Amino acid sequence: MTRSTRRAAAILLVIGGAAAFWWAGGAGADAAAAARSAGVNAPAVAPRQAPPDDPRLKGAYRFERGGWIYVHLEGAPATLGYQHGYLLGPEIEDAFRAVSANMTHSTGRDWAFFRTAARDMLWPKIEPEYRQELQGLVDGLRARTGSRLDVYDLVAYNAFEELPDYYVPWLDKQQKNAKAPDLKSPGNCSAFVATGSWTKDGGIVIAHNTWTNYMNGERWVIVFDIVPARGYRMLMDGFPGVIASDDDFGINGDGLMVTETTITQFEGWDPNGIAEFVRARKALQYAGSIDEYVRIMLDGNNGGYANDWLLGDRKTGEIAQFELGLKAHRVWRTKDGVLAGSNWARDPEILKLDAPGFDPHNMETSPNARRLRWEQLLARNKGRIDVALAQQMLGDHYDTYQKREEPDERTLCGHVDTSARGIPQWAWGAHYPGGAVQAKVTDSTMAEAMSLVARAGHPCGEDFLAKPFLAAHPEYAWQAPYLHDMKAGPWTAFRSGDAQRK
Ligand SMILES: [Zn+2]
Repeated sequence: MTRSTRRAAAILLVIGGAAAFWWAGGAGADAAAAARSAGVNAPAVAPRQAPPDDPRLKGAYRFERGGWIYVHLEGAPATLGYQHGYLLGPEIEDAFRAVSANMTHSTGRDWAFFRTAARDMLWPKIEPEYRQELQGLVDGLRARTGSRLDVYDLVAYNAFEELPDYYVPWLDKQQKNAKAPDLKSPGNCSAFVATGSWTKDGGIVIAHNTWTNYMNGERWVIVFDIVPARGYRMLMDGFPGVIASDDDFGINGDGLMVTETTITQFEGWDPNGIAEFVRARKALQYAGSIDEYVRIMLDGNNGGYANDWLLGDRKTGEIAQFELGLKAHRVWRTKDGVLAGSNWARDPEILKLDAPGFDPHNMETSPNARRLRWEQLLARNKGRIDVALAQQMLGDHYDTYQKREEPDERTLCGHVDTSARGIPQWAWGAHYPGGAVQAKVTDSTMAEAMSLVARAGHPCGEDFLAKPFLAAHPEYAWQAPYLHDMKAGPWTAFRSGDAQRK
């Protein structure tokens, strides 16, 4: 089966699954309720297609390679959005169901709550350029699939990393909600950026693997090549229907190389700020230097999806770590060094003010165990770091707490489903179906040619299989309509302007 036919089959299964659960009630009612409140319980993929000669689609295209879907988008904001919505229509419908089910399940809030937050809190602060792109996305999606989703659905969905785990816990606290679920900011990713005497050729090497639940991870397989009417050309990985990379890994035409890992146990939200997904997209599109990147991210900082940004500027060889709290932030920078991330805040002030629950000294926890592993691996390989070595490191399975090879919640390539411990700091329970879901690497030379390598699925190359997992862990049965196999692809090269090889 090709990926697209497999996806189509999956969508049909999801619709069938949701309907079956509706009748069954019980735990499965969550799935039906999420679909119903999202307005997507009716078959959403109608056989309606805009004529492919629509002038807005001129120059845009997609192809599939190595488990990834590559889309090339070009033009004015509304046109970029239209192309995105049209080319990835079925994938957006499918991912919307999974993401909205997770948002409503984890928070106990219905979809109407998230739409209201998008409309009243986020939308008024989104500048016209990205409003046009988001509206274009809805238009393209509707033309392709007959979708009933509107722009507020898409704004809430674009904010799936910030509304459930940053806004809702803040709101629960404001409202003194006694029934508030245990929500914690996510711990996403293992990453590093190195330069100078640390790398084989003295240029920058930047590497990242994404940690999410597998439900999102199996869908985080888009490569976006974007040529905007204004700003720099961008090549980034991403999620269907989301305008920022969001996990994040990207390079731009002015030499900026960008990734991040989140800050574990971050607390705080500013309802008057600008959504993180908007600022992150804007920074990749418009920043030509580390300073400009920092300035754009700070402008309207809402505290959502708070990250340690790892940045490189191939024009100068300089790298930086930009720890972006809400109450405090800090930048470290060097032309000769290495900076790594695995979901821990480094600055004492940020730890105190923005992540007070995090213990940086407990070496049993996933962030600290991985921090030690990065220190070991990077020091051991000083002067030899290149793209090939970075790929190996992203698939590393050494648990520094147990001092043995065992893929689990503490390894750079995370497999939390194997661990009865889960990750309490992120509210991931025992055998939580999450971990490292894909990986990307590039260096200064490749970035100059606007290229990167990426691997879909676990960076070590192992497959996750949904059926045996769900049979062994019925507590995750509510994910059954959305959780599929996450098969690992090969390391695969992409570049801007790439086209399907014959
Ligand atoms: Zn692995």
